[in-house]
Amino acid sequence: MTNSGSSEAPRVLVGDDLPVPCVDGIDRPYVNLDIAASASALPAVARGVEDFVPWYSSVHRGAGFKSREATRRYEAARSAIASFAGPDRAERGDVAIIVRNTTEAINHLVYRLRIEPTDTVVTTVVEHHANLLPWTRVCRPRFVECGTDGTFGVDDVVAAIEAGNKPRILALTGASNVSGWMPPLDEIIAAAHDRGVPVFVDAAQLAPHRPIPAAADFVAWSGHKMYAPYGAGALVGPRRAFEEGDPFLVGGGAVDLVDLDAVYWTSPPDREEAGSPNVIGAVALGLAIDELTAIGWSTITEHDDLLTRRLRDGLAAIDGVQVLGPTQGTLPLAAFTVDGVHHALVAARLSAEFGIGVRHGCFCAHPYLLRLLGLDHDTVHAYRDAVLRGDRRDIPGAVRASAGISTTPADVDRLITAVEAIVHGGPAPVTYEQDAETGDFWPRSDAPGWGDAERSVGASCARG
Ligand code: PLP
Repeated sequence: MTNSGSSEAPRVLVGDDLPVPCVDGIDRPYVNLDIAASASALPAVARGVEDFVPWYSSVHRGAGFKSREATRRYEAARSAIASFAGPDRAERGDVAIIVRNTTEAINHLVYRLRIEPTDTVVTTVVEHHANLLPWTRVCRPRFVECGTDGTFGVDDVVAAIEAGNKPRILALTGASNVSGWMPPLDEIIAAAHDRGVPVFVDAAQLAPHRPIPAAADFVAWSGHKMYAPYGAGALVGPRRAFEEGDPFLVGGGAVDLVDLDAVYWTSPPDREEAGSPNVIGAVALGLAIDELTAIGWSTITEHDDLLTRRLRDGLAAIDGVQVLGPTQGTLPLAAFTVDGVHHALVAARLSAEFGIGVRHGCFCAHPYLLRLLGLDHDTVHAYRDAVLRGDRRDIPGAVRASAGISTTPADVDRLITAVEAIVHGGPAPVTYEQDAETGDFWPRSDAPGWGDAERSVGASCARG
């Protein structure tokens, strides 16, 4: 990806611009507009991992030099994670636990908080399933509703907090993966704290774009969404929350003493990290934090704001395209629908004809997407019945384009031109067939990369 003039992107990611085959037989440079799902590696992260691989060894389990070095690097990553979560976390006595991803972190937290069926948790209808299902599995949360634009205000959160028993916790997203909306976190956290309610922030989408709110009691995020795609994530929170009781995972490394009928757990964070850790993932996450910190939030925010306007305004200007969610206060991300064209077909055509990668479907946020689409009760019931019969052809959804640190305005323009062509450019050059089981479309083509044998497995709209 070429960086030039005002369209300059701060960094280029590993694999940007790889040529990908299209159905006309031409290879085009890939435009990755699916960064909110997983971001490619920053070059410094990839290089750092390569440099570290020879030193890879056991962590906290060996006296050998390589073990000492691996342990040093692992703990350095932990310190970077703690600082990234807020400058005064260490003084506050917070602990950074290294996990696989945000999903694991939230399941971990729910277990550690010992949430009971009788407990009250307040969360919102905007959440990703990762910040919904771990709570709803153990209790019946009170939900903050959103308006038709997909947002809510501080007053709505306060009303939900005060609507009954005092909640054990308020769990909310730092930024929606569907609309890109960033709730007013600082005000919400302050209002919750005024009422004695601790706050968990799901920072999976926020972390690569904005500082994590230091006032949040607990936060979690994933390395693979912030340019460290090596399988590590973080859960940060007050040490006291992890000092008592059994940890989420039990096993080696989490104990001081074990007998056949007794166990003495060690202190956090080791207590929370049973088993051999993903040291490469942790090192990569630490390196990504160093890189983002070096680039600086002002550069990142400025770049984001430029792309956000270009993306959302460009799509909204196309007759027949509806951009979902609020018009202000979002990340460089846009979920949209095209009148009369199935979301899965739009995504398939963007990939097959234009070499553009986006996500489509319900984005693992069914309750929120149904609200943004404004679907009525009967439509929801009809498609649910069909899905339960194994037919996903009519599953509702949208297309999501998401940008990151190396996306250029030219990439956004390529998307907008392609969407314009899909909406107003006449029939597709090839026939697309929909698979009832996945709901996805596939072109009928013999072009390299698009034969029947290469048909993708799994579908983005099939799973949520
Ligand atoms: N929360 C939000 C807002 C997300 O966008 C995602 C993933 O897309 C998650 C949580 C889950 O992240 P992971 O799949 O890394 O566990």
